[in-house]
Amino acid sequence: MADRLATALATVRSAVGDQAERWDLTGLIPRPLLRELGSAGLLCGQVAETLGGLGLNSLENGELTAGTGELCSSLRSVQTSQGMAAWTITRFGLPEQLRAWLPRLTGGELAAVGFSEPGAGSDLAAMVTTIRRDGDQLLVDGRKKWMTAARYADLLVVFGRHEDGAAAVVVPADAPGVRIQPISDPLGCRAAGHCDVELEAVRLPAGNLLGGAALPLPLLVTTALAYGRMSVAWGCVGILRACLTAATRHAATRQQFGVPISQHQLTAGHLADLLVAEQLATRVCEHASHCWDAGSADQVIATVLAKQVGAEQAARAAATAVQVLASAGAQDGAVVARAYRDAKLMEIIEGSSELCRLLLAEHALATHGRGER
Ligand code: FAD
Repeated sequence: MADRLATALATVRSAVGDQAERWDLTGLIPRPLLRELGSAGLLCGQVAETLGGLGLNSLENGELTAGTGELCSSLRSVQTSQGMAAWTITRFGLPEQLRAWLPRLTGGELAAVGFSEPGAGSDLAAMVTTIRRDGDQLLVDGRKKWMTAARYADLLVVFGRHEDGAAAVVVPADAPGVRIQPISDPLGCRAAGHCDVELEAVRLPAGNLLGGAALPLPLLVTTALAYGRMSVAWGCVGILRACLTAATRHAATRQQFGVPISQHQLTAGHLADLLVAEQLATRVCEHASHCWDAGSADQVIATVLAKQVGAEQAARAAATAVQVLASAGAQDGAVVARAYRDAKLMEIIEGSSELCRLLLAEHALATHGRGER
């Protein structure tokens, strides 16, 4: 399996080459390249080999995600969306739905996931999109916001109200009634294909309803988001590694006052902080992935912790890296400038830092706040 991970990382590196800055500036990753990576199973690495995937465990998929994020957070965002779509289908689909949809996601088709709505951002319980039965068909109506990768997607995994609970449904992006509107000039992850999506009386076969029945909304969104959080956390490790490399290389070569700036102790302190941040985020992500791979009950909270630590460390470290490069990092085209913009968004998505802190506080109260220890 180590060989398979090494090959996967090498394939991603060779596909990205030196194009990440151009994709960031143009706001677009070529779709054929995404299809190529998708059909090699690299956009949803944890899908089972029997379904065309790589069958990576969470730790291996995490390293693949970090390796992608180190090169290009836009591509990593597409990977997160594809992986979250595959995970949602895996967790909630019937066996025949897994056989129908997952080989498409490991065969080059691309997917996006829609939770957020105009009135439902942090508070997903406010979701109003409806998935209704109409004879032997389904009717979907609603508006989804900021769907990453929707610009490239063939399939949209959409969450909504269904009967007395909630459900997720697979919507072909070209179904009548689907309108996809790209978001212009996002702050970061500029080539991740973010879009607002309207669904008006979208008619689908009943078989597109994952699991075929209503589920509690919190269960549905928490399960799907868990994959997204894990993926974003590892993506942040990638951002941290990119910042650490860029800052140390620059500091070792840029001379001021007759010596490399790395020899000025305040700059050296920045480099130490970057290393600490990268190591901290890596270890917390490794712990969370071990929980996933062991099926531990701590998986959910370890994932929230990984996302929180990863996002906060990446945002702070990217600012530090820009400080080390100064004018050399203060322009589009500089790795650290891109990291600075991309990392900020990591504190907003898959549960903002505030929401993650609330979940962590709840956990702290439950485990440490009752005088049992
Ligand atoms: P709001 O919910 O309005 O929050 C605004 C601020 O208030 C935040 O700081 C928040 O933390 C804080 N806040 C809210 N409630 C509380 C509280 N109870 N306690 C303390 N603070 C609180 N959505 C998808 O469905 N699919 C995607 O693929 C997707 N990709 C995205 C990619 C990017 C780059 C971005 C920016 C967004 C994406 N989103 C996606 C939407 C994202 O999930 C939401 O932006 C996020 O959930 C926050 O919602 P909001 O922007 O409406 O902020």
